[in-house]
Amino acid sequence: MKFYIISRSDKLSNELMATARNYLEDFGMEWNEESPDVVLSIGGDGTLLHAFHKYSEKLADVAFVGIHTGHLGFYADWKPIEIEKLVLSIAKKEYEVIEYPLLEVSIHYQNLEEPAVYLALNESTVKSPDVTLVMDVFLNEHHFERFRGDGLCMSTPSGSTAYNKALGGAIIHPSLQAMQLTEMASINNRVFRTVGSPLVLPGHHRCALRPVKAPDFMVTIDHLQLLHKDVKSIEYRVAYEKVRFARFRAFPFWQRVHDSFIDSELSD
Ligand code: NAP
Repeated sequence: MKFYIISRSDKLSNELMATARNYLEDFGMEWNEESPDVVLSIGGDGTLLHAFHKYSEKLADVAFVGIHTGHLGFYADWKPIEIEKLVLSIAKKEYEVIEYPLLEVSIHYQNLEEPAVYLALNESTVKSPDVTLVMDVFLNEHHFERFRGDGLCMSTPSGSTAYNKALGGAIIHPSLQAMQLTEMASINNRVFRTVGSPLVLPGHHRCALRPVKAPDFMVTIDHLQLLHKDVKSIEYRVAYEKVRFARFRAFPFWQRVHDSFIDSELSD
């Protein structure tokens, strides 16, 4: 079996990386950056986002494991003191693989035939580079609303505990094939009107954002941010691809929500 490790590069994460690598090589596993079966991410959820994007072309072959060297994470849910137990389980292949939905983002341009296509593990946001964002929102090709405000966020179920939550979105269990649209400070008065509530869309629905005037947008895909010019539309759907996590023990999603946001005493 082949493995690779991505560290947040702080002292503790690098030490754990060296320890885990030694153990796994002692068990006869091969360090392989090109095509690993298992990728260990040591740091936080942000580190796992980097690991995900490094292997976003090879998702069907890679299973991710996250170890947190800060606070408990949603993707990084192993503690540093559990490293020996974890590498033993990896070496003995004592794990199952669970899959979470992803978001597919297609950005179509006015002068280009082919769209730019991205996969997001957490979310994609759209903002205007300098003025208020004005976009028409289409759901399954039907005009739904004209949005005016700071921006829009489309998140995955596993990303629903990240930016989406700060925007007042619901937390969605990652077993649901869904995506969630949330508003950032929409302008609502007698002239301008949006629904004002997060929308949870099922796997077979599509959402398109089309410019009303200015065609340039700041678009984020997880931690990556790019300015896109001459945009014709930004289209979202639940991706066909999935992200795979190696699971070694039961750690229910709602328990992670509880431990992260309410009280971590029981599990730390
Ligand atoms: P970052 O500093 O890497 O991440 C910001 C925070 O979001 C970190 O505390 C990170 O946890 C946490 N996080 C990431 N994914 C999460 C998830 N699925 N559930 C719960 N918490 C999660 O910032 P970045 O590099 O700019 O962007 C990465 C992510 O930050 C984005 O995908 C977005 O979700 C989030 N973000 C949140 C806000 C907000 O809440 N207002 C604003 C911008 C971006 P760790 O400390 O464990 O890495």
